[in-house]
Amino acid sequence: MGARSGNNYLSALRRLKAEVWLGGQRVEDVTTHPALVRCARSIASLYDMQIEHPEAMTFRLEDGDRAGFSFIQPRNPDEVRKRGVMFRRWAERSGGMLGRTPDYLNSSIAAMAAAWQFFAASEPRFGDNIQNYYREARKHDWCATHTLVNPKASRAAGWAGQTDTDLALKMIERTNDGIIVSGARMLATLGPLAEELLVFPSTVLKAEPAAAPFALAFAINCNARGLKFLCRDSFDLGRSHFDAPLSSRFEEMDCVVVFDQVLVPWERVFLCGDVARCNALYADTNAVVNMMHQVAVKNTVKAEFLLGLAAKIAQVSDGLSLPHVRERLAEMIIATEMMRSSLRAAEADAHVDRWGQFVPSRPPLDAARNFFLRVYPRLVEIIQLNSSSSLIATPSEADFASPLRPEIERYFASSGARAQERVALYRLAWDVAGSAFGGRQLLYERFFFGDPVRMAGALVENTDLQPLIKRIDDFLNRRD
Ligand SMILES: Cc1cc2nc3c(=O)[nH]c(=O)nc-3n(C[C@H](O)[C@H](O)[C@H](O)COP(=O)(O)OP(=O)(O)OC[C@H]3O[C@@H](n4cnc5c(N)ncnc54)[C@H](O)[C@@H]3O)c2cc1C
Repeated sequence: MGARSGNNYLSALRRLKAEVWLGGQRVEDVTTHPALVRCARSIASLYDMQIEHPEAMTFRLEDGDRAGFSFIQPRNPDEVRKRGVMFRRWAERSGGMLGRTPDYLNSSIAAMAAAWQFFAASEPRFGDNIQNYYREARKHDWCATHTLVNPKASRAAGWAGQTDTDLALKMIERTNDGIIVSGARMLATLGPLAEELLVFPSTVLKAEPAAAPFALAFAINCNARGLKFLCRDSFDLGRSHFDAPLSSRFEEMDCVVVFDQVLVPWERVFLCGDVARCNALYADTNAVVNMMHQVAVKNTVKAEFLLGLAAKIAQVSDGLSLPHVRERLAEMIIATEMMRSSLRAAEADAHVDRWGQFVPSRPPLDAARNFFLRVYPRLVEIIQLNSSSSLIATPSEADFASPLRPEIERYFASSGARAQERVALYRLAWDVAGSAFGGRQLLYERFFFGDPVRMAGALVENTDLQPLIKRIDDFLNRRD
């Protein structure tokens, strides 16, 4: 089939009937449930873009079908850049507010399949499995999410990163048909709206035999028997697009995933019991670099979205000439340009890796991901500081339709905008900087790629500081 339409995605979700729980009830159909349906439609609209703009959003396969461009295994730097353009088009649809658009994991699967020898070195069939899975995912244009982190009953680290190893997902049996796994994984964003769940190595496992049952990499259909998705509260409260412009469209839902004796067929197992390879998987296959590429694009778009919002707020409130407003806008411009520059540097320095695929340069992407999780809270804070009480002096769409309209028109207008336009703007700002949806976005940016402290540690580890240390030594030894 190849690149799919939105309708195709929605019908597939309808047929899937994964076990999704929300508010104490089993969700019968995620494509009609009020808390989930509008985000499902937003994801569907991304798939429709593939049909509307095939040249930019897809590429031609050898058999003549077209596939989504995020599945590309780039053979030259231009294909890396074109993938960035495709990522951007999807991110612009939501202003970067949808984190788990399918391109994120498509590009990761593509990298792993290009690095099939990495898996084959563990067991030859695993190399075939990852290649076949990539081809199937690309052919069906599946929507996938992933879940990596174990439950945290205690921070004292055990084999699986925590003491109670009965909680963490692990293999409990090897059978002829596959492996049987039980336990839980914390958080799968988009879980109820995904067809496939990638269960990949969690945070670093101890290099000891007792860690082997936790060392797993596999993919599973979201409707597999024994797999349960437990949703948090929904932040789509059924409000109109005017009242809740972001949460009424992009509530991508996060879930805890429980595995109750789930059978994973062998053809979907990519690693099993190989602790060293599990720990090395993301870096050695360059899957993490492709994921960072998508994230850098998405977050550049998000920085642009918040900058545009702050600029419009300054415009409608006649604040553009105020020194403190200009200083804060300058801060946002700098953040946005830093993101754009890192992205551009990474794409410009794309190179072929040892598996034969072109990848963006990692250091600028690492800088971008570590930078954005620190700067995003500040961007949100600037929206709050520059908006103040206007964020909550926001009558609803129903108020505009009520007898109070003349008063609302009078008291809520500003010199730069009529009341309805001004209120719509601040309602958008509230969804970014004040609502539950906005709070979850903040948490997402801080944590979704991992614990910021450990990410910073990994950045230090991956950066060769010796040449710079030597330069200091040389300087100290200078006698002229
Ligand atoms: C909105 C959202 C969506 C997410 N979506 C996904 C997803 O789709 N898939 C997925 O796999 N994951 C997802 N995650 C999870 C994400 O990967 C984790 O949040 C991240 O890896 C950090 O792990 P943790 O939450 O378990 O935090 P922890 O590791 O428990 O860390 C919490 C805090 O405690 C600190 N800390 C850690 N260890 C110690 C210690 N020993 N002593 C003292 N302090 C310590 C950390 O520095 C941090 O500040 C999501 C997270 C969020 C917030």
